[in-house]
Amino acid sequence: MNKRQEYYYKNIPKYREYQNQRKERIRNVVEQLKELGCFYCDELDFCCLDFHHIEKKEFNIAFALSQGFGINKLVKEIEKCEILCSNCHRKKIYNKKTSLSACNRPEQVKTLVMGW
Ligand SMILES: [Zn+2]
Repeated sequence: MNKRQEYYYKNIPKYREYQNQRKERIRNVVEQLKELGCFYCDELDFCCLDFHHIEKKEFNIAFALSQGFGINKLVKEIEKCEILCSNCHRKKIYNKKTSLSACNRPEQVKTLVMGW
């Protein structure tokens, strides 16, 4: 074992703590976004809200959170999404030419994302 590996093994708890804090920070950012609620109705319940891709999807946001992706990569992907509740998500997928009309929340998302 070289010195670098030795240092790493000695400090595993410290690295784990750092990784957990990082994940927590990113999770808070996503929670902040979801507080804006569904773009199409008044649903605000965190557990009912999803990120729906309106531009080409590279990865799923929930997957990125579980894997601890970096904030910059995550923000780039979030910019391709809108936040929808499960019902509006289904309606949108069922009928792509839906008559659902979005409110001004996409603008609020942009403003939040620009602040990170
Ligand atoms: Zn909705």
